[in-house]
Amino acid sequence: MPFAKWFVGGRLNASYICLDWQIQNGKGDKVAYYWEGEDYVRRVVTYRDLYREVNRLAHALREMGLKRGDRIAIYLPMVPELPIAMLAAARLGVIFTAVFSGFSAKALADRIIDAQAKVLITADGSLRRGKVVQLKSIADEALRSCPNVKKVIVFKRLDGNVNLVEGRDVWWHDVLPKNDVYVEPERMESNEILYLLYTSGTTGKPKAVAHSNGGYMVFVHSTQKWVFDVKESDVYYCTADIGWVTGHSYIVFGPLSHGITSVMYEGALDYPEPDRWWEIVERYGVTIFYTAPTAIRALMRYGEEWPNKHDLSSLRLLGTVGEPINPEAWRWYYRVIGKERCMIVDTWWQTETGGILISPAPNLAQFPLKPGSATFPLPGIDPEVVDEEGNPLPPGNKGFLVIKKPWPGMLLTLFGDDERYKEVYWSRFKGVYYTADSAIKDEEGYYWLLGRSDEVIKVAGHRLGTREVEDAFITHPAVAEAAVVGKPDPVKGEVIAAFVVLKKGQEAGESIIEQLRKHVRTELGPIATPEEIHVVNMLPKTRSGKIMRRLIKAVALGSTVGDISTLEDGASVEEIQRAMEEFRMSMGIRGP
Ligand code: ATP
Ligand code: MG
Repeated sequence: MPFAKWFVGGRLNASYICLDWQIQNGKGDKVAYYWEGEDYVRRVVTYRDLYREVNRLAHALREMGLKRGDRIAIYLPMVPELPIAMLAAARLGVIFTAVFSGFSAKALADRIIDAQAKVLITADGSLRRGKVVQLKSIADEALRSCPNVKKVIVFKRLDGNVNLVEGRDVWWHDVLPKNDVYVEPERMESNEILYLLYTSGTTGKPKAVAHSNGGYMVFVHSTQKWVFDVKESDVYYCTADIGWVTGHSYIVFGPLSHGITSVMYEGALDYPEPDRWWEIVERYGVTIFYTAPTAIRALMRYGEEWPNKHDLSSLRLLGTVGEPINPEAWRWYYRVIGKERCMIVDTWWQTETGGILISPAPNLAQFPLKPGSATFPLPGIDPEVVDEEGNPLPPGNKGFLVIKKPWPGMLLTLFGDDERYKEVYWSRFKGVYYTADSAIKDEEGYYWLLGRSDEVIKVAGHRLGTREVEDAFITHPAVAEAAVVGKPDPVKGEVIAAFVVLKKGQEAGESIIEQLRKHVRTELGPIATPEEIHVVNMLPKTRSGKIMRRLIKAVALGSTVGDISTLEDGASVEEIQRAMEEFRMSMGIRGP
């Protein structure tokens, strides 16, 4: 550590494992992806289809002069061409960075420049809530500041009515060879880079996480099996966007390395109605369903009638990732979606960890779950909860979560910046990986992940985790979501400012604010009584659905906002400023 290596000298190719090996095992005709566009266009992609397309695209990329170690950027919506592009790059040993298609031109350009990508793969557009997202024009804007990009491949998802730059841009369907070709997969050394992925940027500027070929593939393959207990007959649906690590590991490399069938959906969860996901579960007979707490809370807001319209009896396993899940959302998921039949795997991990580290693992062991706890570390994972000095804390105490031993999915480094890698992950405590999350290990050894360790409010000398206070709000029946931040106070050091989104049909007003203040006081004690409570329509979130407290805090304090490239909707700076103005105005609705 910190530059741990796995399977040194071992050779493999990720696309070979996901495709050639599956076909050799007789899965050529098996469905890899059931794809559904937001406009209900449907495609069925078998393992052989994927294999053919990956080889054809790899051929085209090679013809463009790309070779092992070069970088390309992929800016595609949720279409099968996204995993195809990732696998084609992997086949050539070309390092890819997939950029979430909701990002703005600026965010895309930053990543293209940082990775020094030579080629960009994008699409003419995509559908989101019935509207066209103009991906090609966003890409064009980004490319104005990216002279390193020499070629652009454009996949036609919609009507293809976009501008192609002569000499630079080519249609996907024109550049691929007409007939089947075979591209020999590069034999990658285990510790060479497979891909770069930028973190969500919830706490600051996104970091260019580099993942390996060997350790990473072993880790996602193993965790896919342990946690999701995948079987030949499963229909697996992970609702994440492939632009996030969850999609890389658990829509592309994990499921394909097991030769299982997945569902991929292009659009919004509530389009055209809030039962779109349940319609999909019913249509394809989904057995394993993996989503984020923020989505569960959004669906809770719409009410049970939407899932209840559908036959969800095919489901057998449910999962969550991305944030701590509050027990109320957990119970709703368990009762309304899983009908009290399905186990829930609350999976804790990070972009940097490559795969799941702490989670129930039904394939390995059965034990009682506790709503809100990610339970136990997976095999080979050696976490510890430590105090400010790095000393192990006894059970029941809140502290910093560290990982004491390297694991195969661990990031190799931050691309091009070994120093920053050492500083961010290895300098806070000597010799251990610093997660920057806080946690409690209880008397029975269950881990409770409590959010970012830096998200602490100090009220009159008491340290309160933002998440504890938010959870107290969420247990009130009128509240859908809450975010709290600390505001400086001359007397108390800091006071609590809370922003709450009410459930549909709840009236905002003084009486609810007074009720909430009392509620939180009763739940957590007088020290946690919120000073300010603001009812808002929505909270600023990253595109991965995490609340950006950093931004709320800046708005609440009227200070500068910093890097906002990962803010939801990929809005332009002006749009965000406008949103912030509205947010400030909505703060006018405040309690007595
Ligand atoms: P950045 O590091 O750029 O600020 P980020 O940490 O949000 O962004 P990700 O790697 O996407 O980027 O998210 C990992 C974080 O998400 C974890 O560190 C943790 O805070 C949170 N998280 C993920 N899964 C869980 C879970 N099951 N329970 C609790 N927290 C979780
Ligand atoms: Mg992080």
